[in-house]
Amino acid sequence: MIDVWRRQSHPGIGQSPLVNSVSDGVFMASAPQSISIFDLSPEIAALWPELTAAIERVLKSGQFVFGPETAAFEREAAEFLGAKHAVAVNSGTDALVIGLRAMGIGPGDEVVTTPFSFFASAESISIVGAKPVFVDVELDSMNMDSDLIEPALTERTKAIMPVHLFGRPCNMDRIMGIAAKHGLEVIEDCAQSFGAPYNGRMTGTLGKVGCYSFFPTKNLGCYGDGGMLSTDDDALAELARKLRNHGSIERYRNEILGYNSRLDALQAAVLRVKLPHVASYNEARRAVAQRYWDLLAPIEGVVAPEVVPGHVFHQYTIRVLGRDRDAVQARMKELGVTTMLYYPVPQDRLPVYAGQYPTFERNETLSRQVLSLPIWPQITEDQQRAVADALARAMRGE
Ligand SMILES: *Cc1c(COP(=O)(O)O)cnc(C)c1O
Repeated sequence: MIDVWRRQSHPGIGQSPLVNSVSDGVFMASAPQSISIFDLSPEIAALWPELTAAIERVLKSGQFVFGPETAAFEREAAEFLGAKHAVAVNSGTDALVIGLRAMGIGPGDEVVTTPFSFFASAESISIVGAKPVFVDVELDSMNMDSDLIEPALTERTKAIMPVHLFGRPCNMDRIMGIAAKHGLEVIEDCAQSFGAPYNGRMTGTLGKVGCYSFFPTKNLGCYGDGGMLSTDDDALAELARKLRNHGSIERYRNEILGYNSRLDALQAAVLRVKLPHVASYNEARRAVAQRYWDLLAPIEGVVAPEVVPGHVFHQYTIRVLGRDRDAVQARMKELGVTTMLYYPVPQDRLPVYAGQYPTFERNETLSRQVLSLPIWPQITEDQQRAVADALARAMRGE
């Protein structure tokens, strides 16, 4: 494996001082013989001239919050998604919180969602004063099981929050059908699915509101925190614009209690450079996933995720059967391959919700079995082979 790494030249590393300094970060390959979970350095190197030009433009403009960059990014992102409005905010979490509040969801309301996600999904529901109602997941898609939504509805249910986990679209036909039948709203957590299509439309534009995160590791990421929500509803967009800016559209005319949640111009400028590439990056992720599928097929005890239509593989998350997952992860680390656990503790079992929820069997099974392998658009075939070799050895107990 070390030989494999020495043979390949890593595009970008060493080409510029910034790339060198950021290559020591958590998500970068830190030593030549190791494979990290995620690596931004090839992207930064490839886009270096455009990125530095965009950053310079903002520095010279003197406008750092809102301004033309953020407005232009909102227009371009709305057009890419096929949404009427895009409202840029400070993070994916804020997009969810502001989206829920703009939908009028608050104390006494219930929102049906998946237990198997990053905590921001349920946290946003709780923070607006509503209650997350969890339904169990499907083992193969790892998304919420839409058969379980209707039995979970009560008079207090106001909305469904599907999370397109790891970039795989949920069964939106079914979810939208249930929502229409029961008069519920749908707020999509697209933090991991930017650019994932579903039946000819983008995830995030199927429900009332779509919420996106631009955390650096996401499919469309900036180089800091950032987020956005999309909607076709004029009044909801207007309310979201108010909420993100202290409850005001006009300065010193604060009408409601809001937040300081604006996307800054530097991040907007970075996102404008990256947005035109996101479709090809997502295609590259799918190609990487297909290659993993082929490489992992012979490894006994590994259940790999299928390359289904629309899946944009924010993560490539396998299930480990018949072996102790933590031991497999530890052995791979010794062999130089970093993997991650998304998610070892499901949302319903986090300390904040202690004792409030029953056990969801498939959710528990996934939290014990999942292992996310290194993936980014430019990961090389040699690197993927090294990951597969390490996994095969770890699974054989070598
Ligand atoms: C990353 C993420 C969020 C939150 O996004 P931030 O930009 O980090 O606030 C929400 N939901 C899911 C599923 C995520 O992966």
